Amino acid sequence: MFTPDSIDVKDERFIPFISQEQIAARISLMGKQLDRDYKDLNPIFIGVLNGSFIFLADLMRHVQIPCEVDFVKLSSYGDQKVSSGNVTTLKKVDARLEGRHIILVEDIVDTGLSINYMLDQMKAHKPASLAVITLLHKKEATVHPVTLEYVGFEIPNAFVLGYGLDYAQQGRNLGQIYILENEK
Ligand code: 5GP
Repeated sequence: MFTPDSIDVKDERFIPFISQEQIAARISLMGKQLDRDYKDLNPIFIGVLNGSFIFLADLMRHVQIPCEVDFVKLSSYGDQKVSSGNVTTLKKVDARLEGRHIILVEDIVDTGLSINYMLDQMKAHKPASLAVITLLHKKEATVHPVTLEYVGFEIPNAFVLGYGLDYAQQGRNLGQIYILENEK
């Protein structure tokens, strides 16, 4: 796994924040919780691309009940560290969702804009239930109220990188979570 002591992207330096071991331990616990909560419900995990792909891959391998997976893609931040405030769908879910137990999988909830948009989109499919699992939550930054059923880590309002999360599309391959050096 690629876990350098620091990483530079676009003149910004990032340093380790949440280790591989911490992430793995938390995901293992969340997997067990999902096994209990969704027993006999055949849930469908819907990953929000691109950032959730590594979290979802690891999470699914800790889930032992029957389940399915699909993906949606939303418009992103571009190369910026701050949200543009607009969200649109770039790729829709292929599966039929009516009557299904949906678990939306996010890498991070920041302002809450994207997840609220996703929840609205999903409700239109009339699922049997709808829940959110996110690896990271910047509680202080969340201005669009949302209920998050499963949260990996509450983190401060600072820009993070790695384990699927990018900065200008770089850094997704890092094996742990990094934080901007001057924001730690
Ligand atoms: P929200 O709509 O909640 O403001 O932002 C959600 C999306 O913004 C996330 O799915 C992620 O793509 C991006 N994002 C928010 N905060 C961060 C961050 O600290 N680092 C990275 N790499 N992406 C972030």
